[in-house]
Amino acid sequence: MFNVKRHFKTIITSVLALVVSFGILGLQTQAVSAQTTQRNTTAKKAKYVFMFIGDGMSATQANAAEIYLGSLKNSAAPELVKLNFSKFPVQGLKTTYAADSFIPDSASSGTAMASGYKTVDGVINMDPAKKVKYTSMAESAKKSGMKVGIVSSVSIDHATPAVFYAHQTSRNNYYDIALELGKSGFDYFGGGGFNQPTGKNKDQEDVYEIVKRDGYTITRTKEDFEKINKQTGKVYAVNPVLDKSNAMPYAINQDSASLSLADFTRKGIEVLENPQGFFMMVESGKIDWACHANDAATSIKEVIAFEEAIAEAIKFYQKHPNDTLIVVTGDHETGGLGIGFAGTKYNTSFPLLKNQKISYDEFDKVVAQYRASHTPETAKIEDFYGVLSDKMGLNNLKELELNQLKEALKVSMLAASERPTDDKTYLLYGGYEPLSITVTHILNQRAGIGWTTYAHTGVPVPLYAIGQGSEIFSGYYDDTDTYQKFMSVMKLASK
Ligand SMILES: [Zn+2]
Repeated sequence: MFNVKRHFKTIITSVLALVVSFGILGLQTQAVSAQTTQRNTTAKKAKYVFMFIGDGMSATQANAAEIYLGSLKNSAAPELVKLNFSKFPVQGLKTTYAADSFIPDSASSGTAMASGYKTVDGVINMDPAKKVKYTSMAESAKKSGMKVGIVSSVSIDHATPAVFYAHQTSRNNYYDIALELGKSGFDYFGGGGFNQPTGKNKDQEDVYEIVKRDGYTITRTKEDFEKINKQTGKVYAVNPVLDKSNAMPYAINQDSASLSLADFTRKGIEVLENPQGFFMMVESGKIDWACHANDAATSIKEVIAFEEAIAEAIKFYQKHPNDTLIVVTGDHETGGLGIGFAGTKYNTSFPLLKNQKISYDEFDKVVAQYRASHTPETAKIEDFYGVLSDKMGLNNLKELELNQLKEALKVSMLAASERPTDDKTYLLYGGYEPLSITVTHILNQRAGIGWTTYAHTGVPVPLYAIGQGSEIFSGYYDDTDTYQKFMSVMKLASK
């Protein structure tokens, strides 16, 4: 027979047990959050905050540079030469997906990091409906009295730098982004130029002039750059040499007229250091471009130049260890870079990459010159043997490689409008100069490097941190949490 009383008693006991255990759990949760809050409220504010973003840099881009440096040092056995930021004591891993895709672009992933919200690809620091403007951590830092610096090796109105000071429905609104730069009130901009200084149709007032009226000193030479100091006031230091899309040149091409990302970082520290502290974001934007073009040697040299910029922050950290935070991360992975290629199985030969002396787009110029002086009928791959060996480190071609190069040259000899647009052509060349990308593909594959795409991928991206407040950056979290963590260590009220 069913015992109502006993059953009731059992229910009461179970409910009590549940209440008690929930109570304990609740207390535990409270204790944990109190602990966290306590840690956050008693922890010192990070006064000098560096955020380094390697565009398109995930673990493999950093690891490829470490294998390359290690292989040059020791060809007998696997040895890594760790990058300075790889040795940071705190490391985390973060997801990068956008509001509309597992594979983000720089605008959506940048917005997530800078302002803590997911948005759709292409949008700069606004909601997916393109109605609400978000406030970035750089804007909050500036409002709190800190000085703010933004540095990029690509044009300063490009998506990654833009998410820190602009709010636009499209990343392609370069002119409007540049106008927002002038109104930001930030203290230091450095690196690339404006991408479209007179607008899309080149019919607007020169935005450099407008930014000057906004109170910025603009420098374009090494001499004027050296003269910049704390007394200069708001400043925009444009690199003396501007390459394609008004970006800084690739490190691999070693243009001595150019300043380096390290130079811009060092100058930023000099200008921004003040009793109220600073926030400086430094982007290496062309790791991404090299990886879009599947050019490993160029990407590796960019990562090394990025490391040299980070070294400037480390020197500063060593002088102010209790006040400084350095965070290094990427915004997404680009290219689907893999250490390992089907044709080389378990082998790698990274030292081969050392013999590549110029980037893919410098080789494009060689191809363009050749196209201008030859017809498709007279073109032959043998004419390239010298430059392939001297500049791209490619010789002793195997039959398969030679055939790939011959096929690519045929397409490279066609005018852009005459080139095939079928899927096969895209898979082979991805819209790049067919001969150039075939050269880097062959060289990379010989080295034991594979690529899956000419676009971005959705793999998680590591984050490396050292200094004041760095411990909260450990764990596996999302880009949007990165924003919360920065706001917490800068003692700024987040959304
Ligand atoms: Zn990016």
